[in-house]
Amino acid sequence: MSASVRIYLDYNATAPPLPEVVAAMSRSLAEDVGNASSVHAFGQRARAVVDDARGAVAALIEADPGEVVFTSGGTESDNLALRGAVEALDAAGRRHVVTSPIEHEAVLQTLKSVGARGWTVTMLPVGERGVVSPEALEAAMTPDTALVSVMHANNEVGTVQPIAELAAIAHARHALFHTDAVQSAGKIPVSVRRLGVDLLALSAHKLGGPKGVGALWIRRGVRLASTMTGGRQERNRRAGTENVPAIAGFGVAARLVREKLGTAGAGLAELRDRLEDGVLAGVPGTTVNGDRSCRVPNTTNISFDGIEAESLLIALDLEGIAVSTGSACSSGSLEPSHVLRAMGLAHARTRNAIRFSLGPATTGAEVDEVLAVLPGLVAKLRRLTRTAAALG
Ligand code: PLP
Repeated sequence: MSASVRIYLDYNATAPPLPEVVAAMSRSLAEDVGNASSVHAFGQRARAVVDDARGAVAALIEADPGEVVFTSGGTESDNLALRGAVEALDAAGRRHVVTSPIEHEAVLQTLKSVGARGWTVTMLPVGERGVVSPEALEAAMTPDTALVSVMHANNEVGTVQPIAELAAIAHARHALFHTDAVQSAGKIPVSVRRLGVDLLALSAHKLGGPKGVGALWIRRGVRLASTMTGGRQERNRRAGTENVPAIAGFGVAARLVREKLGTAGAGLAELRDRLEDGVLAGVPGTTVNGDRSCRVPNTTNISFDGIEAESLLIALDLEGIAVSTGSACSSGSLEPSHVLRAMGLAHARTRNAIRFSLGPATTGAEVDEVLAVLPGLVAKLRRLTRTAAALG
């Protein structure tokens, strides 16, 4: 295979913007020049674009548009949800939050600072399957629990959490429930009503929209303090002039992925399984991480015995194939994945795992190219590792 061929299998890091998104954003940047808060016609035009996108994002998650707040991305949405809820709940004196150890850093780091302000943070076990059990949440709830945050789909292994059951448990104890749906929206159906949550975070660039824009869905009636203070934009929930072209792009992406949800998912799962089965059959010493029966359709996380994941990532990159080790934000750190560690995997398996995440543009021919090149690369790296070990 020529090294100039680029095969992109890192959609969980970011999905390349859809062509329709690029077109809509270019047009919006050139034409929707007003400030969406201005009263004049320029402002009204920008406002209409924002409202149209709000409707499309709301439709994707079966929500009321009035409950969708645009932010700068998934990280800000998680921060607004958690810091905003904690700030609003603090005075009531119930200062216990429950979460899972496989959350994205946007949640884990935010809850670390919530812990520093005197809240108790409980981490739920996830076990080798990478799934939180309702029983574990039931056991962790105390009369002090005011907030529960569990992600919908995990970014590294793709496992889908039983959010509806977990949210019902939280609500039975009068606690709020937040879910980070950044990796599930656009890949599987996400309905705020069916999930029964209070707060749900989204990011545009994971579903074919632009980077730097996201949304937080806030169920009507949920009290939340603003974390960004300033103007009265977004119904006073999130200050700052709206990024109109990015929001327009988010709206187009949301509309397109919603239209394709039913059909695209099955095709993606087939391609993912073809890749996964091919690796397991063609490369000895490989194991899939995370429960294979409840995953988003585009993700597989595979450990390769006897090599460092970073070396395989680089070798694949030289062949024109883009994958990742763990999440994009922590790659380069050479730290073993916190997700795989939380799943209790042996140390070696937390360091030799590669995430392949497919998307709408992935083809069968690309999967076959990867399957053709992988066994040779892995065998070569294993030989090199053994030689290095023998040389001491
Ligand atoms: N939550 C999850 C599960 C993610 O995978 C990511 C991105 O990697 C984020 C939050 C952060 O989103 P953003 O990159 O839009 O800040």
